[in-house]
Amino acid sequence: VAEPGSSYRVVLLGASGVGKTAFASIFAGAADSMDSDDCELCGDEMCEKMIEVDGEAATLTLLDTWDAETDSEWAQECYMQTGDAYLLLYSITDRASFLRASELRITLRRFRPAQHTPIILVGNKCDLVRRREVSVSEGRACAVVFDCKFIETSAAMQHNVWEAFHGIVRQLRLRRDSR
Ligand code: GDP
Repeated sequence: VAEPGSSYRVVLLGASGVGKTAFASIFAGAADSMDSDDCELCGDEMCEKMIEVDGEAATLTLLDTWDAETDSEWAQECYMQTGDAYLLLYSITDRASFLRASELRITLRRFRPAQHTPIILVGNKCDLVRRREVSVSEGRACAVVFDCKFIETSAAMQHNVWEAFHGIVRQLRLRRDSR
C-alpha cells in the first residue's frame, strides 16, 4: 500500500550542454514545491525536495551528473548504479547528443538490467525549432527501441519540465504498486 512521501533518487544523464543544469535549477527553484522553502540540500549537483503528484507526496533527490565526456568511467558507473530512475537528456538541436543518449542507454542497461527501472528519454530545447536536428518521430522511435517513455521539453521556456519529473514519479509508483 502506498506510503505517502516515498523517497526516490532521480539521475540526470546526458551529453554536455543538453540542459541538465537548467533542469536541475528548475527543480531546485520550484514554485511547484509543496513547501515554499528552497531546496535544502542544494549543492551544485544534488537537490532534495518534496513534490506533489496526483495528490500524493513524493520526495525526489535529483542528481545532476558529471560532464559525461570528460569524467572517469568509474564516476559514470557510480551514477549508473545510484538511481531509482533516470532522465536521459539530449538536445533536439544536437544530433551528437542524441547518439550519446543511445550510448548511455546501453551502458545503463548493463548496470540496470531490470526492465523496471524507469527511464524517460527527454528531447530538450524544443523551443529552438529552426535549429532542430532530431525530429519528434526519431525521438519517439528511439524511446520505443529503448523501452522507455519520451517527452520533448524546453527548459528555457519551462515547458514540460515538470511533466517529466511527474512522469518519473508515476512510473516509480507503478513499479512500486506492482510488486
Ligand atoms: P548541461 O551541460 O547539460 O548541464 O547543460 P546546461 O543546462 O548548462 O545548458 C547548456 C546551455 O543550453 C545553456 O546556455 C542553457 O541556457 C541552454 N539551454 C538549456 N536548456 C535550454 C532550452 O530548453 N532551450 C534553449 N534555447 N536553451 C537551453
